[in-house]
Amino acid sequence: MSKKPSTPIKPDTLLVNAGRDTKMSHGFINPPVYHASTLLYPTAEDQVAHRSRYQYGRRGTPTSEALEDALQAIEGESCAGVALLPSGLAAITSALLAVVGAGDHILVTDSVYRPTRTFCDTILKRMGVETTYYDPSIGAGIAALFKPNTKAVFTEAPGSQSFEVQDIPAIAKVAHEKGALVLTDNTWASPLYFRALDKGVDLSIQAGTKYIGGHSDIMFGCVSASAKAVKQLKDYVYTTGLCVGPDDMFLALRGLRTLSVRMKRHFESGLEIARWFEQRPEVLRVMHPALASDPGHVLWKRDFTGGCGLFSIALKPVDQKAVYAFMNELQLFGIGYSWGGFESLVISFDCDEYRTATKWSPGGPTLRFHIGLEDPADLIADLERGFAALKAAG
Ligand SMILES: *Cc1c(COP(=O)(O)O)cnc(C)c1O
Repeated sequence: MSKKPSTPIKPDTLLVNAGRDTKMSHGFINPPVYHASTLLYPTAEDQVAHRSRYQYGRRGTPTSEALEDALQAIEGESCAGVALLPSGLAAITSALLAVVGAGDHILVTDSVYRPTRTFCDTILKRMGVETTYYDPSIGAGIAALFKPNTKAVFTEAPGSQSFEVQDIPAIAKVAHEKGALVLTDNTWASPLYFRALDKGVDLSIQAGTKYIGGHSDIMFGCVSASAKAVKQLKDYVYTTGLCVGPDDMFLALRGLRTLSVRMKRHFESGLEIARWFEQRPEVLRVMHPALASDPGHVLWKRDFTGGCGLFSIALKPVDQKAVYAFMNELQLFGIGYSWGGFESLVISFDCDEYRTATKWSPGGPTLRFHIGLEDPADLIADLERGFAALKAAG
C-alpha cells in the first residue's frame, strides 16, 4: 500500500493493495521481478554477520516478499506466515512433511485430491507414517479414529470431484483437543470464501495454479499457517530448498489482484449452469454445495461465503460411448484437467477407482465441469449440442 489506510479495509480492497511497497519499487505500482541467486555484501563484517535485508535468492527477494505479504494479508489476522511452493501438490506434500515423521499416524478425508492420496500411500508410507482415510461427512465423530500417535488431520471441502462439504470447525475442535494439527486444501473456495484459519485450520493450502494464477499459465502453490504451525512450515520449506521462480511469482501476484472479480463471475456462471443441469432430463444429480438440493448445502451456507466455477454432475445411466459423444461434441468446453483458468473445461471421472473409506455410488456416469468466464448463454447452447449428441449415440 502506498499509504496506510486510516480505517479497516475490506477483502477486495486488500486484494488490490496488499504486499505493495512503492518505496521498494521506486514508485511503480508493481514490485520488480528479481531474477536472483547471489547477493553481495558491502564488507567482510557484513557477510559474517549476515547483515543485509536479504541473504540469498532462495531465501527471499522483494518479489517473493511482496507475494507472501499479499497472501498473508488476505488470510487475515489468524495467519502468522505463508510459504510459497512450486505447485499445489508441492504445497500439500510440504505442509504434511512439515508436521509428520516416522511412527506418526494421520487422518485424511476419503474425498481428498487424488495425488494427495498417492503421496500418503507411497512416500509417507515408506517413511513410516500411517494413513487412515475417513468419511468426509464424519464431523465430530472423527474422535473415534484418533490414535495416541495421530499428528494431523487432512481435510478438503468440498472434495474437488465429489463435492462433499466437511464440518471443519467440528473436526478442528476434536483434533486440537487431541493435540493434532488440522490441514486443509482450500483451493475451491480460497480464503476469500472460506476463512480456513479462522475456522480452526493450522495449515491452509491453495493450488495457486488454479484461481490465483487464473490464466492456465503457471504452476504455483502456497501454504498459510497459524501461529502454532508457522515455524514448522517455514523451517521445512527453508531446509528442503523449495522455492518458486520469479516470473511465476510475478504472475501469481498479478492474478491475485483480480481474484475476487474473476471468482465471483466463475461462481455466478457456475451456479447458473448447475441450476440449468438440475432441470435437464438426462441429469440424475448435480454436485454443487451452493445448490439447496445438495447434501452439503447447510454446512456450506454456515461456513462459506461463496465458491468457484467447479462442480460435477451424475448422468442417468447411459452407455459410456454416449458420454464420450457428449464430451466430444462440445465446442467451448475443453477436455482437460486442472481448473481456475478463464476457460471452461470438462472431464469424465470415477471416484470408485480409489475410494477406500466410503462407497462411491453416484447412480450413473459422472462429469466434472469448470465454468470459465465465457457468456453462460453460449456455454448452455454448447451443452445443448452435447446432449443432442448424447441422445443420438445412446
Ligand atoms: C490441482 C489441485 C491441486 C494441485 O495443484 P497443482 O498446482 O496442479 O500441483 C491440489 N488440490 C486440488 C484440490 C487441486 O484441484
